[in-house]
Amino acid sequence: SEKVLDRIVAELNENQRLAVTAPANGRLQIIAGPGTGKTKVLTSRVAFLLLKEEIPPHQIVVTTFTKKAANELTERLESLLGDTTIDVSKILVGTFHSICYRVLMMYGKKLGIERYNIADDRDADHILKEMLAGLSDLELDTLDSLPDEETVIFRPNSGSESKKSSGYDTKKIKRQISKLKSSGVKHDTYERSASHNKALSLFYRKYQHKLQENNLLDFDDCLLYCYLLVTSFPVLNFVQHVLVDEFQDTNEIQLQLMYEFARGHPTDPSKRDNVTIVGDPDQSIYAFRDAQAINFEKMEKHYLKRYQEPCRIISLTENYRSTSDILDISEKIMRQQQKRVVKSLKSQTKRSFKPVYYNLTSAEEEAKWVCYQIEHIMALPNTPFMYSDIAVLIRAAYQTRAIENELVRRRIPYFMIRGRAFWERKEVVAILDYLRVVAHDNDRIAYLRTLNFPKRGFGDKTIQAVERALELETLAGRDSVYSALTAMVQGENNELKLSTKMKQTLSSYLQFIHKAREMLSNLDAEITNGTLDSEKRSSKLAELFELIYVHSGLKQEFSKDENQELNIKEVEKQFCEFVPRDEELPLYHGGSESEQTQDDRNYLARFIHSVGLYETDDDKKENEKKESFHGRVALSTIHGSKGLEWPIVFVPGLSEGLLPARFAIANGGPEAIDEERRCFYVALTRAKTLLYMSSYTSFGSGMWNIVDTVSRFIDKMKGTTYVSDFQDAFKSWDTLTQLYSHIRKTPPSKDMFPFDNFFRLYKERLTPFIKGETFAINEQSFKSAPNSLVYGGMGFSSAA
Ligand code: ATP
Ligand code: MG
Repeated sequence: SEKVLDRIVAELNENQRLAVTAPANGRLQIIAGPGTGKTKVLTSRVAFLLLKEEIPPHQIVVTTFTKKAANELTERLESLLGDTTIDVSKILVGTFHSICYRVLMMYGKKLGIERYNIADDRDADHILKEMLAGLSDLELDTLDSLPDEETVIFRPNSGSESKKSSGYDTKKIKRQISKLKSSGVKHDTYERSASHNKALSLFYRKYQHKLQENNLLDFDDCLLYCYLLVTSFPVLNFVQHVLVDEFQDTNEIQLQLMYEFARGHPTDPSKRDNVTIVGDPDQSIYAFRDAQAINFEKMEKHYLKRYQEPCRIISLTENYRSTSDILDISEKIMRQQQKRVVKSLKSQTKRSFKPVYYNLTSAEEEAKWVCYQIEHIMALPNTPFMYSDIAVLIRAAYQTRAIENELVRRRIPYFMIRGRAFWERKEVVAILDYLRVVAHDNDRIAYLRTLNFPKRGFGDKTIQAVERALELETLAGRDSVYSALTAMVQGENNELKLSTKMKQTLSSYLQFIHKAREMLSNLDAEITNGTLDSEKRSSKLAELFELIYVHSGLKQEFSKDENQELNIKEVEKQFCEFVPRDEELPLYHGGSESEQTQDDRNYLARFIHSVGLYETDDDKKENEKKESFHGRVALSTIHGSKGLEWPIVFVPGLSEGLLPARFAIANGGPEAIDEERRCFYVALTRAKTLLYMSSYTSFGSGMWNIVDTVSRFIDKMKGTTYVSDFQDAFKSWDTLTQLYSHIRKTPPSKDMFPFDNFFRLYKERLTPFIKGETFAINEQSFKSAPNSLVYGGMGFSSAA
């Protein structure tokens, strides 16, 4: 084990080594910028504690930020310690939430907490709404309004709910309950406090009650109850050392939990408070969850008081992740913020490339540009890159739609970090199923899926019976699922015994589809005749979409959840703006081109085809092949990219209203903007080698999301030199081989970059991708751009 440890320590620089091998007894803060090896130090320190200080694995607690980080830590240790007898799986490692959940599972009985499930955010929303709806007017009459917050968004609900209960914004209630919980305040404690707000106190109590009825704990409860448990019972007394990654994103209760997990005796040298934390105040982006970078100071004070001796602080200044250009630009961004300790990180990489920046005219154009660049990188002969070297990071989840759409269209394999790909989300699949049903009269899968979603009271048995009956009908020569279903309602089928009520339900379902199809065929005729101007066309399409959304019952189903509703809106937006291209004749899935009927050429069918949902088997095979060679592009929100790194990072959407986000601008205060800036900083510092930034500004063209100014963060970066792309870098044999060694950590073999036919190969491979591509680059931004901006290289306007 000595050797193992030597190997680990040999990889470190001097300060990292100091941090890793600091005596286990003590309190250590490692405060340092991105990519300086904080997480590496934390992992190595766990190995040091296990091997050198011989702390048994189950006496070590490590909190990381994501499940991925926890897995990586365990894997790394397992591979390092494979030859030793240490059982790495015994280490208590995970996010605060998962650790607390496990502790509650083990010892919750003591608090009377047993066999609980976790309520995710959606469950919690649902319960809150139920709770509000269940309140009597009498109860509501006596209430005041909720306490004030920094930003109060008052959004009266529409619909048939009681007017009084709808006067309360559930989001606000949720936030305020969460705030209380994350400061460690239970509902009965709050009720007793002199300054409590009557409404909030009632909601808090009732909400807790509902959770309990359903045997649920919400995320905040996990922490709160675990805190109550460990302060009331000495269940975690055996813990010897607590390590915390991403400390800047801890909130009050997490800080308190850390103290409690680590609690020892200042006078008993065999049991001290032993803590190692790593973090970077500049990367604190969870203030909306009440995280506070001030926890660094709080921790200092806490332990100074307890031990009369300060925490040991070690800082790291060598950056092993990014090139000097990437570090320069990130530092420049952060210097726009006041009250900040200026950092000077030294890049340890040899080569550097100027970042790319472009401004485009719409989200769609921007997505096209991003995907064009990705294809470009991948088209290099013997490209040193894989799809999995690339990440696209955005501020808000809904921004993925445009990008995903283009990725799907180009057949670029990708995946979403934390979260489902847009087109796989439940609400999106559901609305598309209905669009499919309206578009095609013979799409069996879509018919079967929509029959009972939203629930219409068909049981599984009935659906199975319908399925069987459909088969028989088809055998009997009905030419479509639609007509077979119609036959069933009219009672021409003897096999299927449907109750009168079920028949009625089925009949109204079919009537609705019939109505939508009629509307579609009228619209189709008008579109084909060209009698509609684009505005009229768009509004008629919206009408059709609304009809389908409302009458399917999906609106009822999804309007409760703001995110689901936003996603549906995105589909609608795309649907209304879609312009079929002639070469994009749909290939009805399962059928071949020759079997296409007129039915499959309608606007709706073309739309569904265009979003790439009808993959042919060949497409699938092709995609799998691509994936197995090159992995997948990562698509993530900036928040989800915490602690991760990629050779190539795209940060699109650098426009006012997107980054900084609209709500932060509306907030008006400098804190909200500072948080957005740190968010940008986190995004930029994920990049190792190549950084692509872009924005879009559209001048009053679209009906949705009008975004007309380049982000203030970009605007203020005077004196930064950007390039238009990395083509020059890619065209140099020298650079390519260097890039290759930098990214793959080994030099390329001699014949990998055949210089003589390099350009021929390059051109050949690129041609299919750039054929017919045009990007609308925003002239306006060129005019308003600071003089120092350099837009070199070729434009993208007519590459074909
Ligand atoms: P973040 O603030 O983004 O979480 P971090 O400080 O945790 O960053 P790490 O992720 O630990 O940084 O390290 C960044 C990269 O640098 C990793 O690829 C890591 O393997 C590498 N690295 C760290 N220290 C060294 C070193 N001494 N020698 C070589 N590579 C190193
Ligand atoms: Mg890290």
